[in-house]
Amino acid sequence: KLHLYGNIGGPEDIAKVLGSGGEGIGLFRTEYLFMNGYVIPTEEEQFIAYKKAAVMARGRDVIIRTLDIGGDKNVPYMGLPRESNPFLGYRAIRYCLDRTDIFRAQLRAILRASAFGKIKIMLPLITSVSEVIAVKRHLHNISLELEKSGVEFDREIKVGVMIETPAASLIADLLAEEVDFFSIGTNDLIQYTMAVDRCNENVSYLYSPYNPAVLRSIRHIIQCAKTSGIPVGMCGEAAADPKMIPLLIAFGLDEFSVSAANILETRKNIASWNMEEVTKIAETVMKFHTEKEVSQYLSEVDSQKRQEVI
Ligand code: PEP
Ligand code: MG
Repeated sequence: KLHLYGNIGGPEDIAKVLGSGGEGIGLFRTEYLFMNGYVIPTEEEQFIAYKKAAVMARGRDVIIRTLDIGGDKNVPYMGLPRESNPFLGYRAIRYCLDRTDIFRAQLRAILRASAFGKIKIMLPLITSVSEVIAVKRHLHNISLELEKSGVEFDREIKVGVMIETPAASLIADLLAEEVDFFSIGTNDLIQYTMAVDRCNENVSYLYSPYNPAVLRSIRHIIQCAKTSGIPVGMCGEAAADPKMIPLLIAFGLDEFSVSAANILETRKNIASWNMEEVTKIAETVMKFHTEKEVSQYLSEVDSQKRQEVI
């Protein structure tokens, strides 16, 4: 049984996801709460937004990703330093584990909101087990504080990581022992695996999920999750790519999370495949040596499927 979730930038997007048949929220990009204003949102403001999302989802999963700024997501008022390699620099979980004042306010807001629905926490740009352990320590301490003050929260809240760096992919077996779920962030996984800036048009020919290196990484991540018995989703753009869908099903992906606009089409696409077909496709694809061969073959497979469906 595969699950189809939606990606959102704020609680106001939830109606669209549910209206299109999304079963839950696979990625709440919380940086938009920070990017839309001129000051850092307070714990209370964040609590209101996360609670609203939890309530609006009416018991369905809401996977809240902690602040993922830096790289292509600049928040001018937060004064990130100018760096020569911002995608490799002080950003996302690295920033949060340094600016624990900002991070702990967000974690507190998420934990408090978890009393109102089925919230899960997801960490971006993870590259080591130590980062996960550090976050868990913060969560543990904040939980003790909340308990002391008699504030309700979900004591069993699930914590997962985005697998979007080659380091996380390579240690996916180790990370799987520490967390409750994975979500593959292909937008960044492609960038970091192929050493290609996701915003640079001059090298965009390299920015493709059909590269054998990227496909092997995705397959490996899913296998590690399966071996450890944790669910694995994908919230990058590749989850909505009709050419990728048969491969992802064959690899064993449990959950697809796509923008609200892509939910209906993705559902149709997923439903059009059976296990026997996708297994054969994946076997063929994984023998190719180049991005071009993979892309061409998957285009043919996709257009054949479209004809069948019509
Ligand atoms: C990703 O990297 O695939 C992802 C979903 O996160 P973002 O696009 O927000 O970096
Ligand atoms: Mg990302």
